[in-house]
Amino acid sequence: MSSPPPSSRFPLGLDRVQPRAAGARPAADTLLRPQRPLQQAADDQARQATPSGLGLDSAAVRQRMVQRLRAGGLQCEPVLQALASVERHRFVDSALVPQAYEDTSLPIGLGQTISKPSVVGWMLALLFEGASARQRGHLGRTLEIGTGCGYQAALLMQLARGVVSVERLQPLHERAAGHLAELRRGGDLRLVFGDGMLGHAPRAPYDSIIAAAGGEQLPAAWLSQLAPGGRLVAPVQRAQGQRLVVVDHTPQGLVSQELEAVQFVPLKSGVA
Ligand code: SAH
Repeated sequence: MSSPPPSSRFPLGLDRVQPRAAGARPAADTLLRPQRPLQQAADDQARQATPSGLGLDSAAVRQRMVQRLRAGGLQCEPVLQALASVERHRFVDSALVPQAYEDTSLPIGLGQTISKPSVVGWMLALLFEGASARQRGHLGRTLEIGTGCGYQAALLMQLARGVVSVERLQPLHERAAGHLAELRRGGDLRLVFGDGMLGHAPRAPYDSIIAAAGGEQLPAAWLSQLAPGGRLVAPVQRAQGQRLVVVDHTPQGLVSQELEAVQFVPLKSGVA
């Protein structure tokens, strides 16, 4: 076996390395930047200082989400604006932040989920098509059943005039209160820990009622707390699966329509 011939390529023996001619040195700023990784680490940390990890870029990410929803057919401008401004990533666990602006439902703990933005947007747009919302250009007094993480309540604060949101699971009620602490200061939001199947009589009637959990039927309390001209949007369990149901309180009484199939968590009675 003979050894390979000495190579003029790599690895280069030290004896073959020529000292660089002084004039051929590259400019100092491209040659030595030992501090660069440190600067990048500091930038990374600053981005993560907002619990998001999305940092200053999140407005642009939300705009892209809104563009996709618009392209998908969502046309209700106030709803699109609210979706563009509410920071969904602040309402989910930090591990889920990278998915916060994808059109997916996400777990929020205790077996519950936050609906995907397209479904939230669709339901809110349906509320806007109710008689009194069309007339006034806002959702009026609004009742939400199922506060969950508080994301939809934050959207409702921008779209309604007074929001009551009821949650039956205390840990979620408390978490939502934390998520909404800052936003609440400027607006009229009441978070209630209780059984939303009873609605919330102290502030009834409501111009808009929206539920993020579906039962076998619409609770009577919701229907009796719906103001004239008001609209209710909620999932209801049918033999073939859940459907989204819209009920309008018209001068002729309550008129309901059944829309597409949906998948929401179950509406349960009592608190836990
Ligand atoms: N709008 C929420 C979605 C939450 S998921 C959000 O943006 O995060 C639906 C929620 O409805 C769950 O948190 C569940 O606990 C709650 N829920 C189910 N039955 C309920 C009831 N009877 N009263 C109040 N909340 C209820």
